Amino acid sequence: MSKSACFVTQQATEEILSRVTNVCAECYTELQPGDIIHYDMQNYRYLCERCQEELCEKMNDECEIIAEESEGLFG
Ligand SMILES: [Zn+2]
Repeated sequence: MSKSACFVTQQATEEILSRVTNVCAECYTELQPGDIIHYDMQNYRYLCERCQEELCEKMNDECEIIAEESEGLFG
């Protein structure tokens, strides 16, 4: 699916967790080394799997979020 291009999927490492973030940017779940995480290239943040899936469902093919929450993001 083209939507996977909106995210970079990777495994959380100690380095990412200590240098970037150790929580999901959306639900603030604590991330552990080895967890699958998704870098959101539109918003420059890391998401857990669950939030990435939810976000994917709200996105159109241009990785734009079409649900109510992010009105104004692109305006
Ligand atoms: Zn999350």
